[in-house]
Order: sequence, then C-alpha cells, then structure tokens
Amino acid sequence: MKITILTIFPEMFAGVFTESILKRAQGQGSVEINFVNFRDFSLNKHHRVDDYSFGGGPGLILAVEPIYLALKSIPAYDTAFKILMTPQGTPYSQKIANDFSKKDHIIIICGHYEGFDDRILNFVDMEVSIGDYVLTGGEIGAMVIVDSVTRLLPGVLSSDESFEQDSFYNGLLEFPQYTRPQEFMGMKVPDVLLSGNHAEIEKWRKEESLKRTKERRPDLLKKRSEND
Ligand code: SAM
Repeated sequence: MKITILTIFPEMFAGVFTESILKRAQGQGSVEINFVNFRDFSLNKHHRVDDYSFGGGPGLILAVEPIYLALKSIPAYDTAFKILMTPQGTPYSQKIANDFSKKDHIIIICGHYEGFDDRILNFVDMEVSIGDYVLTGGEIGAMVIVDSVTRLLPGVLSSDESFEQDSFYNGLLEFPQYTRPQEFMGMKVPDVLLSGNHAEIEKWRKEESLKRTKERRPDLLKKRSEND
C-alpha cells in the first residue's frame, strides 16, 4: 500500500515513522510512505501558502492553489483516495481504518493555522476528524491514520500480535489480560486462565469482553445490534 502525506511540516513525522512496527512495515515493503511539502508548490515569491480570510476574522487560511498543485504532482493522484484532515470531518473509527487498509493508495492532507480555503473540498474524497477537539495541525491525525491502517496490512503484525481480538475490531472491547506473576500484592489471575482448558478460556473471554463493553461502552453494543 502507498500513503502520501501532504504537509508543510514533514519533519514532524520522524520518530513516529522510524521506530517499531511502522519501521518494520516500511522495511519489508508492506507500506510505502512519501511526503509532499505543498509549500514547494506555492507560486508566491515568499513561498507563502496562507492568506487572510475574506470577510475578515483572526488567523490565516491555507490557500487552495498550492495544495491542488501538490496533489496533481503525485503520480496517479486521481485514482488515489484523498483524505482531508479537519475537525469538521467524519469521526475516525476502526471501521474507517479497515476500509482505508484495503485501498492501494491514500493521500492525507494536513492543515494548519485556521484551516483550509473551503474550495479544497472539490479535490478530496473524504474529510476525517480524529475527535471533537481542535489540534494545531493535521499531522498528529495523519500519524493516527497511518499507524492504525498499517497494523492491519497483511504480514505487518505477527500471529502473536494479531489485531482480530483487539478492541473495536469486532465491535467490542477486548477482554482483560494478565501475565506473570500469577499473584501480585494479593491480586490473583483468574483461575480459568491457568486451567489449560481452551474452550473454557474462550468462553470466559467472550463473556468478559461483552461485560466490559456493556459497562464502559454501551454505545458499541447498540451500534453492533443495529448492524446485525
Ligand atoms: N478553524 C478550524 C475549525 O474550527 O474547524 C480548525 C483549524 S485547526 C487549528 C488547523 C488544522 O489542524 C485543521 O485544518 C486540520 O487539518 C487539523 N486538525 C485540527 N483538529 C483536528 C481534528 N480533530 N481532526 C483532524 N484534523 C484536525
């Protein structure tokens, strides 16, 4: 899969993309991540990409032209799935991550300042928000998308690390887990997990997953029954 990130701050991604599973995924060719700095496409002699808002008001708006030109410079950009990072977009979810992971090429556009000239909406397929709060820029959201999508790609996680049991994948929160020691400060690991009885363990985990979801996220159960 290919991911292209349009940003005026590509250096922000160093570290997050060069460690751990994201590093491994790129190294083994599961994902190819490229950056395009849309400042390079400014036709302004000072390379400005922002300007004042028509009608007045505080802050600067990202101009549509450099972003459009940057998009057009990406090979086969018209067939790629283009995502605009904005707090006004569709709330990001595991379901959307699953959908994105099936695409050949996604392009993520990161905003800054007061956001984008609204005409950018004519050149994107989807607006995505990572939550009901406002960040200074779209880069952290783009990292969230890249990380959550990459771990779903074939061969990225080993069987030990598989994602099928993770929270949200099947619409539920994951069951509780424990590791050594069997007892810590008087707190014991549930007996069933030490029993070696796989059928019983699976039954317990399913029940705990449901119980936990009911307690913490009843909205997920409601959504699940609506989708059945
Ligand atoms: N004035 C805009 C508004 O009220 O909708 C917010 C602009 S925000 C300060 C600057 C940029 O950060 C946005 O254009 C977007 O790319 C990114 N951003 C901020 N919060 C975000 C969120 N919750 N989800 C996705 N992107 C976000």
